[in-house]
This record gives sequence, C-alpha cells and structure tokens, in this order.
Amino acid sequence: MNQLTCPDCDLIVEFAPLRAKQRAFCPRCGHLLTHRSFRALERSTAFALAGLLFLVLANIYPFLSFSVSGQEQVMTLLQSSQELYRNGSKVLAFFVLAFIIVIPALIIFSLLLVLIPIILKRRPVIGQQLWARFIFTLGPWSMVEVFILGVLASLTKIASMATIVLGLSFWAYVAFTLCFLISLSALDRYQFWRTILPQQSTPAIAGKSAASQGLSNCHICTLTSTNTQHHCPRCGAILHTRIPNSLQRTVSLLITAMVLYLPANFLPITHTDQFGNVLDSTIMGGVILMWEHGSYPVALIIFIASIMIPTAKLCALTWLSWSVSRQNSQNSKQRTSVYRITEFVGRWSMVDVFVVAILVALIQLGGILTIRPGPAALAFSGVVIITMLAAEAFDPRLIWDKLEENKRDQ
Ligand SMILES: [Zn+2]
Ligand SMILES: [Zn+2]
Repeated sequence: MNQLTCPDCDLIVEFAPLRAKQRAFCPRCGHLLTHRSFRALERSTAFALAGLLFLVLANIYPFLSFSVSGQEQVMTLLQSSQELYRNGSKVLAFFVLAFIIVIPALIIFSLLLVLIPIILKRRPVIGQQLWARFIFTLGPWSMVEVFILGVLASLTKIASMATIVLGLSFWAYVAFTLCFLISLSALDRYQFWRTILPQQSTPAIAGKSAASQGLSNCHICTLTSTNTQHHCPRCGAILHTRIPNSLQRTVSLLITAMVLYLPANFLPITHTDQFGNVLDSTIMGGVILMWEHGSYPVALIIFIASIMIPTAKLCALTWLSWSVSRQNSQNSKQRTSVYRITEFVGRWSMVDVFVVAILVALIQLGGILTIRPGPAALAFSGVVIITMLAAEAFDPRLIWDKLEENKRDQ
C-alpha cells in the first residue's frame, strides 16, 4: 500500500498503487491526492520541448498590428512590457514580463533539465532538487492562459475602431500556452518526485492526522517525515507542521490588499489621449463603457475578473481566517472547498492588467490616439498579487485542527 498526507486536511491516506488513468482522492476533504497518466514524464517532456520552441518563435515575429487612419503600429510580445516601462510603470512592466515570459520559461527550462536525463537514463543534472522545486514553487505564478484571455479581451475592445492583424508571434504564443498547460497537467507531484528521487515516507497510521503523529508533510514533494527535521530530506524545502504565524500573515496581507483596493478602483487605470483630449478611465468605468458599446462578453469578463473575483476573494479569506480564529469545527469540508476555489481563481484577476499592457503597447499613434497606463493598474496588480500571497500564507489544515482536537477529547 502507498501512503500520502493530504496537504489540505493533514490526514494520512493509504491507497493501493494506481494504474494508468486512476486517481486517488482524500476521503475526508476530497482533495485530489495523485493521478497517474500513461507515460506522463515522456509526454510532459515532449510538450515542454515543443513549448520552448514556440516561446522562442513568439519572441521573434510581430505579435499584433493595429492600423487606423492610414497609420500602422506593430507590437512584439516583449513590447507589452517594454512600453509600460517606457511610460513610467516600471514595476508593472516587471510583473508583466515575469508572469508571461520569464516564469513560464524558467518552469519549462527546469522541467527539461530534470526530465531529459531521467528519460535518457543518464546521470541527473547538478542541483536536481533545486530545479525540480522551481517547477512546483513557480507554477502558480505563471499566467500564460490569463494573458491569452487578456489579448482576446483587448482585441474585442479595439476591433471596432481599427484594423487588427494577428501576427505569427501571437499564434506561436497560443501554441506555447497549449503545450505548456498540457506539459504541466501531465505532471503529478507525487508520481514525479517518486520517479526522480525514490524515497519512502516515514510510516504512519492511516486515518489520523500527520501532526498528531509528530510528522510533517512536505508541500513541495509530498514526502512525510518526522517534524524534528527543519528541511525535507528529499527535496530540501523548509518543513513545518503548520505554516508559522499563518493567520497573522494572512490577515496582514488582506489588510494591505484592502488598502490598495481603494486606489485600484477609484483612480484611473488608463489615460486615453485622442486628438489632444485626455480621457481617464477607471476599471468600473471601462466595464460600463464596453457594456454601452455592446461588447457584452468582454464587459462581463472584465467585471468578473476585476471586480467580482478580487472582492469575493478578500471576503472569503477574511471569513476563513475569522472562522479559524474562532476555532470553528463546523463545515470543514465546505470551508476547504471555498479555500481551494479562492486559490484557483486568484490569477484570473490579472486579465485587466494584461489588457492595459496590450493597449499601451499597441496604441501609440502620436497625436491621433495614445493610451498610457494609469496609477490604478499598479495598485490593482498589487491587490491581485497580495491576495495570492495571502492565499498561500493561509494554512487550510488549520480548518481541520479543531475537529481533530474534538475527536481526541472524546
Ligand atoms: Zn484531505
Ligand atoms: Zn520535500
């Protein structure tokens, strides 16, 4: 039998070795513990190689071109970040570059460095654990699919006022996104680490929490070991039975995000200069304008991603922190599901920031029409990034601790 500790509720789960296409779920909180797919490592490597090639191509050719009144503007993928930098939004330019090119490239590069020697049965790469840790630590910070949605939303936004041509680089980036997502989805954390560094977890009693048996679960490689160790013996990640000061950190990050939420919504996100007239637009103003112009799908996407998701996320994390601090032992499964949704949807809020990046890079037609980023763009990306950090700082196992305590007392 195999053993795994559920990262969401800390339960030790025992299960028979999986065959291809089988999955194992936590019986208590429903978390997908592991899945096994046919030739997962080979598939992941093949798609990562193809993805790397497409990413290189995406940086060579024009990404989009935009023409209005006889004037044409061509943008490359890199310009989505460069133009923000040139317009004074240096921090925002850095975030965009990191989320759409640097982090995905680092993930693919690390994946290939680790997997190619394994598949070719060669000696592992130097620093194998570190490269493998990169894949899982950086994973949530790659936003390639959110960027594609941002590109589509910005195209719909400007399609009525100009002729847009999708460049070769755009299609290469779409192909890269598909390869990247397929490559990562084939990779199961538990199966991956078991293959590259086979090591048995410390034996434990199934059906009880790891913490109650003096054990800690590694959030990177899934190995369960005694909680007297500071670092995971397999991957070297820092081990802790519960994230230290999880509630305090989550709450302080939430307060910071709430403070930034005000300028993000009340200051302009873009300044549009048309024939000398400057028009400022806030996030909500942009949604209303698009709705009035009949661009209902884009208005809806921006409304959901920029207004509904951040607000719901702030409320959900505040509620979860409050319920844990009150030592509530009710509805633990539902609260864990709320946490999982919060963690999953957070990145999608960046879509409006990417729309701004595309518009700023594309619409630079001198005195005719120019778009510049407004202060809300940085404040809003701050809200998204800080709420993502708050979700990472929140330890969902705290939701189950009171229940465990009650069980022990009975
Ligand atoms: Zn669980
Ligand atoms: Zn580990």
